[in-house]
Amino acid sequence: MVERAFNFSPGPAVLPYEVLEQASRDVVNFQGLGMGLIEVSHRSKPFIAVMDEAEALLRELMGIPENYKVLFLQGGASSQFFMVPMNLLGPGKKATYLNTGTWSKKAIKEAKLFGEVDVAYSSEDSKFVRVPAQNEYTVSADSEYLYLVSNNTIYGTAFPEFPVVDTMLISDMSSDILSRQFDVSRFGLIFAGAQKNLGPAGVTVVVIREDLLDRAPATTPTMLNYKTHAEKGSMFNTPPCFAVYVVGLVLKWLKKIGGVPAIEKINREKAAMLYAKIDESGYYRGHAEPASRSLMNVTFNLATPELEAKFIAEATAIGLNGLKGHRSVGGCRASIYNAFPIEGVVKLVEFMRQFELANP
Ligand code: PMP
Repeated sequence: MVERAFNFSPGPAVLPYEVLEQASRDVVNFQGLGMGLIEVSHRSKPFIAVMDEAEALLRELMGIPENYKVLFLQGGASSQFFMVPMNLLGPGKKATYLNTGTWSKKAIKEAKLFGEVDVAYSSEDSKFVRVPAQNEYTVSADSEYLYLVSNNTIYGTAFPEFPVVDTMLISDMSSDILSRQFDVSRFGLIFAGAQKNLGPAGVTVVVIREDLLDRAPATTPTMLNYKTHAEKGSMFNTPPCFAVYVVGLVLKWLKKIGGVPAIEKINREKAAMLYAKIDESGYYRGHAEPASRSLMNVTFNLATPELEAKFIAEATAIGLNGLKGHRSVGGCRASIYNAFPIEGVVKLVEFMRQFELANP
C-alpha cells in the first residue's frame, strides 16, 4: 500500500483504499475482457450488470421501498436545485424550504424560478450555526413539499432527526447519505452528489417516489425530466460509467463492513472524539451549536485567523490534509465521511492537544 495522507477534504473526499486499487486495475482491464472499464459500451452486458448491481446495493443498504426509482444522473447535486422544482412545481404551486446554509440558499434561488417558495426558517443571521427544531417553523398545508439539506457541509450542522410533517420531504443528502439510518419512505425525493460518501464526482444519485414522475409540466426538456431517466434505467443517454462503477465498489465495501448500522456507529465514535476535544479545551471553538452538530463535517475556530493558518500548515506537514474551512466561513473543518479512518481522527485529536500546548 502506498503511503496515504489522512484526507479531511470536504469533497471530492477520501475513498476506501481497496476501492481505489480495484478501480485502477479495472480501468486497464475489466473482467479480463482485454478492455478497460471506461472503454466498454454502456449497452454491453458487463456494463449493464454494473448499473444493476450499483442500484441493487443502494436499495439494499438504504432500505429503498419498491415504489421508488433510483437514478444515476449528471450535472452535479447543483442541477437538482432546479430539477426538483422544475419537475414538481409550476405556476400557482408552492414549496416550503428551510434555509440552513449555502446549499439551501442556492436551491431556494432556483425554486423561485418555477413556483412560490415559502422560506419557513433561516439561520442565516446567526451564520448558520444551527438547524431548526420542529416547533420553529410551520409548513403550510398547500405546500407540495418541505425541502431541507440534511447535512450542511460548510457549517458542520445536520438535522439530528428529520421533520415529522404531513407534507412530503425532499432532501439534499449530498454530504451524509449512507452515514446514518433513516426511513426513506418519509421522503418524496432524495438526492446526493457522489463525491463525499458514495464515490467519485460525476454522478448524482436521485431516489424518487414513482408517483412523482408524472408531475412534470409538458414543457420540461427531455433530459431534465425525471421520468425520462426512470423509464430508461438511467440509460437514456450515456451514463457516467466510471463514476457509477466506483459507486458500486464503495457500496460493496460498505456492505462488507456491516452496512449503514455499522458505519453509523463508527461515524458517531469519530465525531464524538473530535467534539469532546473541542468541548474540553476552550482553545478550539465549535462553529455549530451542539444540538445541531454534524457527524460528517466538524467545524471549529481558533482564537485568530493567523493561529488557524499555523494550525492548518503544521497539520498538513504531518499528513493531516484538507483541514481548511470553506472560503466563505474560514476556520477549520474536519470532514470525516464514511471512508475516513478512525486512526486519522485519533491523530488529529493528538495534534490538537500538542498544538494547544505549544501555542498557548
Ligand atoms: N449540496 C451539498 C450539501 C453539498 O455539500 C454540495 C457540494 N459540496 C452540493 C450540494 C453541490 O454539489 P455539486 O458540486 O455536485 O453540484
